[in-house]
Amino acid sequence: MDRTHLLSDQDEAAPSCPAGSYTDPRDGATAPPADSMPVVPGYESLGPNVIPPSDFGSAQPPAPSRAPERRFDIPAITEELAQEAFIKYASSKCCYSSKPAKEMVFTDLQSLNTYRYRLETFTESRTTEWDSEPYNGQVVDGFGVAPAPWSIPVPIPSLFKDCEKAVRVPHTSTIKGCHSCLNLGRSACRRCVNSGRTQCPYCGGLGRTGSNRCSPCQGSGMTRCHSCGGVGSTTCETCEGQGKLLCFIKLKITWKNNVYVAVIDKGSGFPVELLDQISGEKLLTDMAPMVYPVVSFPDSSVNAESESGVREHQAQFATTCRILQQRQTIELIPITRVHYVWNEKTHIYFVYGTEHKVYTKDYPVKCCCCSIL
Ligand SMILES: [Zn+2]
Ligand SMILES: [Zn+2]
Ligand SMILES: [Zn+2]
Repeated sequence: MDRTHLLSDQDEAAPSCPAGSYTDPRDGATAPPADSMPVVPGYESLGPNVIPPSDFGSAQPPAPSRAPERRFDIPAITEELAQEAFIKYASSKCCYSSKPAKEMVFTDLQSLNTYRYRLETFTESRTTEWDSEPYNGQVVDGFGVAPAPWSIPVPIPSLFKDCEKAVRVPHTSTIKGCHSCLNLGRSACRRCVNSGRTQCPYCGGLGRTGSNRCSPCQGSGMTRCHSCGGVGSTTCETCEGQGKLLCFIKLKITWKNNVYVAVIDKGSGFPVELLDQISGEKLLTDMAPMVYPVVSFPDSSVNAESESGVREHQAQFATTCRILQQRQTIELIPITRVHYVWNEKTHIYFVYGTEHKVYTKDYPVKCCCCSIL
């Protein structure tokens, strides 16, 4: 029988991310001191460092021969469209007069279309640490051999989405006395420090208010502690009063979508950072467990970006994570530079994105009072 399938129902609870990613309300207090724990073969060094995947360095698939079939040099937008976008832009600004946008005369429209290359590398990494829960008589599966960290099957919740999950490593359970309360099940009340009584809030501990004896504390200056009800101790939060813990190795799985983006800057004077917010036209989408750099795109800077993106992600993730899936896209981002004349002066604006957004540095009439002209 395959031991790696012995995870209990509880451990295999439906992956629900991000809210359902292993949330332990008692987190932090539940890890037993590592030096009191047995050494589990295959789990000698636990901690925050990721475990190298056992099958890293898997071969890259052969280069596909992909030749884009269509032409990518889309012409500049029409004058009508450029003007429409400009009027809309001017009227969206409360202090811009729409007069120049309506009266301008086009002198030139230049197509400055560019490309955005994006590579997503969806990775999985694993770490291990001791964890515990209150022992209430649950099954202890300490016998048998614990499966290696990377051989424990954990379903992927969803591709290209960040997520976290934790599962119990089979055959690592053991019962220990609670380290927080020294097996007592109760810990000293933090508020009254075991005395069961705290300073009276009415008289501030004086026993008197003015010249009268304080009645809530009957002159003693102390009242019963509200936190523990006067007992002096509270139920231990780590073991929930059981005095015993079920300790086990917890496998934490982190899925992460790593993104490499490059916009080919053609030095047109257009601020490329504006392009983060807009969408382009998808020219290519390529998804595979491991993509091959794009080589046959007509614009060689896109090929170069793909080459360095793929190489960068390989170097960054191949030895520490398992690369589950990669996706690369090339988008055409339309940008048109418009030259126009208004009031005998030449100006420039840009229309960009499939949304036809407008960017300009020198709109001719920017203040309300000028629009009366
Ligand atoms: Zn108390
Ligand atoms: Zn009092
Ligand atoms: Zn305890």
